Amino acid sequence: MKIHNTLSGKTESFKPTGNTVSMYVCGITPYSPAHVGHAMRSVVFDVFKRYLEYKGFQVLHIENFTDIDDKMIEGASKQGISVSELAESNISSYLKEMDMLGVLRANSYPRATAEIENIVDMISGLIENKSAYEINGDVYFRVRSISDYGKLSDRDIEKLKSGARVAIADHKEDALDFALWKSQKPGEPAWQSPWGPGRPGWHIECSAMALEYLGESIDIHGGGQDLIFPHHENEIAQSESFSGIKPFAKFWMHNGLVRLGEDKMSKSLGNMVTIGQALDAHSADALRLLFISAHYRSPITYNEDAVVAQENALQRIKSALKLDGLETESKMDTSSYITNFENAMDDDLNTPKALAVIFDLVREIHKEHKVGNAISDGQETLKKITGVLGLGLQDKNPDSDSDDLIEFLIEIRLSLRNANQYELADKIRDGLLDLGIQIEDGVDKTSWKRLP
Ligand SMILES: [Zn+2]
Repeated sequence: MKIHNTLSGKTESFKPTGNTVSMYVCGITPYSPAHVGHAMRSVVFDVFKRYLEYKGFQVLHIENFTDIDDKMIEGASKQGISVSELAESNISSYLKEMDMLGVLRANSYPRATAEIENIVDMISGLIENKSAYEINGDVYFRVRSISDYGKLSDRDIEKLKSGARVAIADHKEDALDFALWKSQKPGEPAWQSPWGPGRPGWHIECSAMALEYLGESIDIHGGGQDLIFPHHENEIAQSESFSGIKPFAKFWMHNGLVRLGEDKMSKSLGNMVTIGQALDAHSADALRLLFISAHYRSPITYNEDAVVAQENALQRIKSALKLDGLETESKMDTSSYITNFENAMDDDLNTPKALAVIFDLVREIHKEHKVGNAISDGQETLKKITGVLGLGLQDKNPDSDSDDLIEFLIEIRLSLRNANQYELADKIRDGLLDLGIQIEDGVDKTSWKRLP
């Protein structure tokens, strides 16, 4: 399998160190609802993970939440709630939306505020080995202490320096140095540290979490292309200076950004569609198809027409799966489809090519069905390879259908009780219990649960 590595700028053969692939993907800052760009990032790495698992690897996947930073503090104060309340509510919506999109859960979702000890340890180590320094309660990374800064983003340190403006209030040794620890300003949440109360910078959080959960050298580090500089460049600087081990990440994978009109979709630019809005208007599969219809490193443009076109494409796949097969002696040979699918995915996750193979197979299933040949092998293969891309291909969630039915029965039972028809009402309660569903009458609401 070949993967494009941002670090070398080349497409390289990918081999993990062991049978388990360690993968760290930068997550969201939960200061407002996540947008479609975040959904694309999650779907891209979900497809990669599913394909690795299809190939027999295990994937240890970590995604962080940056639950403390300037935007978190600002967002919480605007809404009159605490930073942790703001984080909690956006994180729980995000995870729900990921489930709806069919994104497999990461093994762990560490949060910056729960990792302060590890972060402080790492910063202390960097000060000890002279890669960082403290001034008035702030700690900075000494960019000049390393010779290969800029290697990920292909930037020249001298050019960076001449471009950087030094703020008057800045006490840094060098304009390029970046913050590892920020001393507390009035009214800000803070944690204790050897340099006084404060909070971690954004970059150090990911270095500390990758080290804690995956070790000193990891197989894959991923994120959107907008994170290459400075975030990922700084992560490399911190991690390699701390451990002395290179490379911090063997492969750096970056997905292209989602555009809305002319610009990249971004909360700070104010042009965005939230994942919730997209899921209200479209099916999860159509959104997923849109994200993988282009190669993951290219940008995609989000617009309603583009998603609707994907809904139509989805219907073609679904209709091929719904055809009734005839039991005949002849079998459909699908081995070439599987080979072509794997070749496409092995080629730096070429999902547009993989989708073309899928639609070829859809056409052949229809063709064979028309002439009365057996199609069940074709349908099996279609199910298998669309599953690797994470497509659910269900018309409706069967669970939500049965949930609706239970709510409906509970409503009828309530009407019966109100009409003093207790015998019938109890019959519904007992009948549901027989099916493993327990009803509990509260003060003003009846709740229910599935018994284990
Ligand atoms: Zn990160």
